[in-house]
Amino acid sequence: RCRFYRVKPISEIYGELDKQRRKVVITMHQKPDADALGSALGLYHFLVRLGHEVTVISPTNWARFLSWMPGADRVLDFEGMQDKAMAVLQEAEWIFCLDFNILSRTKRMGPVIEGLACTKMLIDHHEEPQEAQFQYGISLPSKSSTCEMVYDFIIHSGHGDLINETIAECLYAGVMADTGSFRFPVTTAAVHRMVADLKDRGLKHWLVHEYVYDNFLENRLRFMGHVLLNRMEVFYEYNAALITIPKSDLLRFEIQTGDTEGLVNYPLSIQGIRLAGLVIDRDEERKWSFRSKGDFDTNTFARRYFSGGGHFNASGGRSTDSLAQTAALFKKALQENIEALQTEYPLSLNN
Ligand code: 5GP
Ligand code: MN
Repeated sequence: RCRFYRVKPISEIYGELDKQRRKVVITMHQKPDADALGSALGLYHFLVRLGHEVTVISPTNWARFLSWMPGADRVLDFEGMQDKAMAVLQEAEWIFCLDFNILSRTKRMGPVIEGLACTKMLIDHHEEPQEAQFQYGISLPSKSSTCEMVYDFIIHSGHGDLINETIAECLYAGVMADTGSFRFPVTTAAVHRMVADLKDRGLKHWLVHEYVYDNFLENRLRFMGHVLLNRMEVFYEYNAALITIPKSDLLRFEIQTGDTEGLVNYPLSIQGIRLAGLVIDRDEERKWSFRSKGDFDTNTFARRYFSGGGHFNASGGRSTDSLAQTAALFKKALQENIEALQTEYPLSLNN
């Protein structure tokens, strides 16, 4: 499915990659996860090896468990270093936008990027991209991760020989995270071939897994226990579950960016549950995450009820209502979607 009508294919810039030294900015969605930061840093190391002057700018801070990534210490946090980031953005000739489909996902950087006159490129795997903002791009919702797309970009541009252990670590992290460690249906044969190739180039995959999943502090595991015991409701009649996290829990367990990552998947381990919602009472908004199994479309669900979107089986959204109000809306939405939620599973794969 080609989702682009007015954007030129990203392959048109392959010929420009090794011509002249360019000032390049790479950015990704706010609160970058392993796929967003991994794809940005994988592309960063690749373009640096080609001789370009590259800066990665994140719209916000990121999870502590991603700080091991090679180059993470050089990433500018737009919220924390706005003047420096603005200066780099004004100078940029190319800007790569990774792992998001709509500029508002870059928060306060959105209007800044919109105002830049440089060449803007999108590499992303979310549904329904806002194509008007980009001159070049590739949008493939069938792809496991943006890291897989950056890998394809490097290989198809003819520079696969530049992929070293550093690039392999960054790209592997995102593919591992977005495929749920290679278990979701998006884990195609091409994903496994890519991993085999990264292994050939020196990747120590177990280290990446440990960096990402065995790198939390004790408080986070205690928090998980508390939340699963006290904050999860299961609605068997809808094959769904909801986790509601009040601000007091975040304060009590000293929860930081990234500590809630993965929590939304736990209800799906209950027999029969195929839709999980997680809502967290953040300062500025109530932040939603949705995950599903099988034929329930969380992208449409998040768009319709929670001003969000994402992928078919994984999406997010937001609300300015109170925690109780937005949780009530979720329950109402379950009623309105009862047919889709009660259909027999497994029906068919989505891709
Ligand atoms: P997560 O639950 O991990 O925050 O997000 C799941 C997926 O949905 C990610 O791919 C993420 O980029 C996307 N997503 C999360 N929140 C939003 C949102 O508010 N709007 C849109 N369009 N996508 C979102
Ligand atoms: Mn992604």
